[in-house]
Amino acid sequence: MPKSLLISYPIMSSCLQGEIIISFMNITQASIVPEIEEFLINKQRQLKEELLELDRDDPVLANHVAEVSELGTESWEADVHAKLVLVKNNLNKMYLRVGYCLKMIKDGTYGSCEKCGKAISLDRLKALPTATYCSLCIHSS
Ligand SMILES: [Zn+2]
Repeated sequence: MPKSLLISYPIMSSCLQGEIIISFMNITQASIVPEIEEFLINKQRQLKEELLELDRDDPVLANHVAEVSELGTESWEADVHAKLVLVKNNLNKMYLRVGYCLKMIKDGTYGSCEKCGKAISLDRLKALPTATYCSLCIHSS
C-alpha cells in the first residue's frame, strides 16, 4: 500500500443520527474525534442553557421596558441589560462556533486547517476543540 494511502486512510465514524460517514483525517486525529464530538455536544447544550438563563435574568426582557431608558430604576435595568447583551453576544458566538465544528465533524472536514488544509495538531485540538486553523496559520493571520 502506498504511503499516502496510509496517511489518508478512510476512517469510519458514526455521527449523531447513527449514519456512517467517512472522513479522511489521520488516524491519531480520528481516534479522538468521538471524544471531541461528545465534548462539543455537551458544550452546545450548556451554552444554550446559559443563554436562556441570561434571558431570564435580563430585567429589560423580563419587564419589557425600553432598552434605552432615562432616569431612576430603569437606568439600572438598562445597565444590567447592556452587560448581559455583551455576555450573550460572546456566548452566542461560542455557540455558533461549536455548532460549526460539530458540522465539520459530520462533514469529515474537522481537524484540517481552513487556511492551509494541513492537519491541525492533536495537542492543539485537545486544548482548543473549536480550533479551525493550525498553529502556524493562526499566528500568520
Ligand atoms: Zn494552516
